[in-house]
Amino acid sequence: MLAHDDHIAVAVSGGKDSLTLLTLLVKMEQRFPRSKITAVSVDEGIDGYRDEALQIAAETCRRLGVDQHVVSYKELFGVTTDDIVQQELGKTPCSYCGVLRRKAINRAAAEIGATKIATAHNLDDEVQTILLNMLHGDPMRIIRSGPILQDRRGRFITRIKPLCDIPEKEIVLYAYLAGLKFQTVACPHGNEALRNDIRSFLNYMEQKHAGIKFTLEKTAERLREQLSATIPPSELHDCKNCGDPTTHRLCEACVMLESINPRPSIDPLTAAFI
Ligand code: SF4
Ligand code: ZN
Repeated sequence: MLAHDDHIAVAVSGGKDSLTLLTLLVKMEQRFPRSKITAVSVDEGIDGYRDEALQIAAETCRRLGVDQHVVSYKELFGVTTDDIVQQELGKTPCSYCGVLRRKAINRAAAEIGATKIATAHNLDDEVQTILLNMLHGDPMRIIRSGPILQDRRGRFITRIKPLCDIPEKEIVLYAYLAGLKFQTVACPHGNEALRNDIRSFLNYMEQKHAGIKFTLEKTAERLREQLSATIPPSELHDCKNCGDPTTHRLCEACVMLESINPRPSIDPLTAAFI
């Protein structure tokens, strides 16, 4: 996942997973003098929730001697997650928030000149997403995903998930044993019904059939090995709105932003395409 001279942008929210990841990478990095770590934090604008997390993230960065780069939805996109929740848009808040966060982290990583983006997805996150994609009828997303997301065209910074083989329970245990301070309050908008049902199902199955989460992850890995080379890379264009690479005329985030906050800059043809 990592080269000895990488500049790693670690996505740090202030939760147990991201602070565990940051702590472990900082320990590893000490053996590689040409590598560098910068924490990247995103302020989605969630009142009564994100402020505390950002404060914990900042304290941890200070303690570990890591620079922190913070970007906010308000500055980047002109809206906050709280603003989005106010509008009845037909999708869950996480659908919007997740797409905007990916874009915000990409922007932040590009600003600091990072060569890798490390996110703290754990085994539970990964297997939940595999089942979610199956239940949404989107198997290709399983093939395109994985522990290392490298763009063969070189337009996106490589994303890595160093904790993707670690069960969530073990990360909690590590965080407690290492004495990490982390946010324990859940996001007030984070109520994805289908993901919650999948989480309960997988935990129930794991309790009855130990190892089932690993098996599911390995199954997806084998499918990727067999099928990823057969998928030709799709053609990339510059998003007409923001210039970021996309397979359509507008990137996913810009399409979402237009639906949240329609702007007159969009021409009728683009609107029809959306
Ligand atoms: Fe955004 Fe959903 Fe995460 Fe809350 S739980 S920060 S709404 S993605
Ligand atoms: Zn765009």
